[in-house]
Amino acid sequence: MTNEAHEAHLNFIEQIIEDDIKAGKNGGQIATRFPPEPNGYLHIGHAKSICLNFGLAKKYNGNFTLRFDDTNPSKEETEYVESIIEDVQWITGEDMTGKIRYASDYFEQMYAWAEELIKKGLAYVCDQTPDEMRDNRGTPDQPMKPSAGREFTPEKNLDLFRKMRAGEFGEGERTLRAKIDPASPNFNMRDPVMYRIVKSEHHRTGKKWLIYPMYDWAHGLEDSIEHITHSICTLEFEHHRPLYDWFLDNLDGIWRPHQYEFARLNLTYTVMSKRKLLELVKGGLISGWNDPRMPTICGFRRRGYTPEAVRAFCKEIGVAKMNSIIDVMKLENAVREDLNKRALRRMGVLKPVKLVISNYPDDKTEQLEAVNNPENEADGTRFVPFSKVLYIEQDDFMENAPKKYYRLTPGQEVRLRYAYYVKCTGCVKDAGGSVTEVHCEYDPATRGGTSADGRRVQGTIHWVSAEYALNAEVRLYDRLFTRENPDDPQDAADYKDYLNSDSLQIISDAKLEPGLADAVSTDRFQFERIGYFCIDSADSKPSQLVFNRTVSLRDSWAKMNK
Ligand code: ATP
Ligand code: MG
Repeated sequence: MTNEAHEAHLNFIEQIIEDDIKAGKNGGQIATRFPPEPNGYLHIGHAKSICLNFGLAKKYNGNFTLRFDDTNPSKEETEYVESIIEDVQWITGEDMTGKIRYASDYFEQMYAWAEELIKKGLAYVCDQTPDEMRDNRGTPDQPMKPSAGREFTPEKNLDLFRKMRAGEFGEGERTLRAKIDPASPNFNMRDPVMYRIVKSEHHRTGKKWLIYPMYDWAHGLEDSIEHITHSICTLEFEHHRPLYDWFLDNLDGIWRPHQYEFARLNLTYTVMSKRKLLELVKGGLISGWNDPRMPTICGFRRRGYTPEAVRAFCKEIGVAKMNSIIDVMKLENAVREDLNKRALRRMGVLKPVKLVISNYPDDKTEQLEAVNNPENEADGTRFVPFSKVLYIEQDDFMENAPKKYYRLTPGQEVRLRYAYYVKCTGCVKDAGGSVTEVHCEYDPATRGGTSADGRRVQGTIHWVSAEYALNAEVRLYDRLFTRENPDDPQDAADYKDYLNSDSLQIISDAKLEPGLADAVSTDRFQFERIGYFCIDSADSKPSQLVFNRTVSLRDSWAKMNK
């Protein structure tokens, strides 16, 4: 590749990194981090950030840390820490041992740096309540009303700050603020809060700390301690960068990271804020964080998405500086493309009706060879039992069919996949007129599904032997929301008003080929002509199999829109 061609396909962050490496910055080393707050489960937006940060470290032989930004004790739980580690390992395919850090391990160092700023006259203790602070912050052309602490001596502020740490004030009674610029057009620079008093227990430090650092103060320090070179965050933080820089510039002799912003991922038919996802969980509107309809990583995993598909999707959407909404179809297509390569083909009938082969011996069973995966010869073949009575899909029979119906209808011949040609001879109906049995005759000379005389059939349908079939529950998922942008800030309605009431369809009596009894949750299957499926890791039991539809074979929404 020429130099220009190489540069043309770099994203803007790779470009910056390559320039930095060329310039010998930081000794040519790079280090990135993924900094989740452990207050919820990770979603596909986080996956974009993980793929970016982890991917850069890998590509440029750098360091990567998974850092828990656990600076807010009241909302954080160990359950979230554990799930986040599992999810990051799943997405990256790498063990995170040795790469995990906690912001709470840096509290003592952060505290020392806060004292340094106080001693330099750059931070002060303020006695305004959060409400007063809001009322006093001014307007774009009016400066904030200065806090009395601005005029205190460093000694007095140091004393007050130590009292804050010692627990001599109640929650909300004091804060430590940076002394920057009461008139700054950027409100983040109007003496932002660095520490607040919180008396809840922390998941790691317990009751040791009564004051907790704010995100803007803490984040750059965490980056500095970990010698992060490129601290990558989403665009909302662009206006926080001057503050990020101000803190680091005013501390002596510390490692200097730099912040870069990229566009967050938004997906159609999806909400992506942890707060809203938590609301769905708490409200019982879905079954939990790992409900297969959720855009969470654990939901994807349970639904049968693969890390390879998630990574391919993240690569495809790229990294840019403009916010946009990505069509969720792109994600579904990435899943289809990956599963098409890896899924083992199986036969399963979701809406069964019996097909009786009248000229087939009553008590005969044949084992017919079927290809496991036409995309990968190495997956080999298997044998599927075939007998006189089969199940086929109700849809694959029509008594009075239109012209271009190539499946079973009286007089028409079709191929039973991997088995025989059969010609439909009629059907049996119940009193209500529903078809209970379809009848046909087979041609023994077409074993394997090909005819020796070159006779062709238009349709091929799947089947399972009624005698050997497994019963299973099959769960079909659709989009969780009916609106492209359920979260539209312009829209007065609540996003929950757009929940799709048909997003889960349960089929309780599907019939599957018997080999599926041995399936494990990491297996991926294509039920021929239907879609991609996997065992439901939470609910499936050997005595009651449950399969999830990961994704349909084709996009039915695209068809509907046409
Ligand atoms: P949410 O907005 O869903 O509550 P968050 O930003 O509060 O997420 P954090 O735990 O703070 O969640 O996020 C960890 C990292 O993931 C941050 O660096 C953040 O920028 C990134 N991130 C979060 N959401 C997205 C998204 N939709 N697209 C890309 N990156 C994201
Ligand atoms: Mg956040």
